[in-house]
Amino acid sequence: MVMIETIKNIAGSALHLFYPHVCTGCGSDLVSEDNLLCLRCIHALPHTNFAGLANNPIEKHFWGRLRIETGHSEFYFEKEFLIQHLIHQLKYKGDTGIGFYLGELMGRSLLNSNRFTGIDALIPLPLYADKERKRGYNQAAVICNGISSVMNIPVLNTAVVRSHATETQTRKHRTERWENVSGSFKVARPEELKNKHLLLVDDVITTGATLEACGAIILQQENIKLSMATLAYAAK
Ligand SMILES: [Zn+2]
Repeated sequence: MVMIETIKNIAGSALHLFYPHVCTGCGSDLVSEDNLLCLRCIHALPHTNFAGLANNPIEKHFWGRLRIETGHSEFYFEKEFLIQHLIHQLKYKGDTGIGFYLGELMGRSLLNSNRFTGIDALIPLPLYADKERKRGYNQAAVICNGISSVMNIPVLNTAVVRSHATETQTRKHRTERWENVSGSFKVARPEELKNKHLLLVDDVITTGATLEACGAIILQQENIKLSMATLAYAAK
């Protein structure tokens, strides 16, 4: 057994020479290929601890706009800092691994908070189909998969869809931006949503207009409870 471990370690070291494994956050060398971030970056992650906090900034954000049960963002989105870099890797560099990992961290916070216990399913905020085709994946779905692996809750990937407004719609709502955003979401499978407490998930919340528009469409379904979670919160 010791012998096998030694051989594995030697093989691992040799592999490391040819395929150096580096921290996604800072680029420093990592000893184990099991980790994506070095310890320094893991400790530097700006957790908000919103999950356990009633009336946190995410929940307050939707007051008077949308009836949500609970809200959470796992990290502060600080410009030029670590979390912005990691989300950039997820969205534009094809690094789904880091998205899954950050989703897992968020899942753990939700699980530990006891304020997100009744969630039946996760819904990734849908991308426009052409954008998702170009990127190869929906980053919100990647985050959902990470949450799902920790919380054991299914991800509903096709229940809600997003499509470009037709030319007529665009003309009709030219002066009403919100209406326009709201018109781009559609519930494709109402039977998957009804009678459920759903957690709508996205990468970053800034104005919240898109989440609000999508949430409003979901809440039109039968007997729905809705909660919101994003990986990062861009404080204004
Ligand atoms: Zn690092």
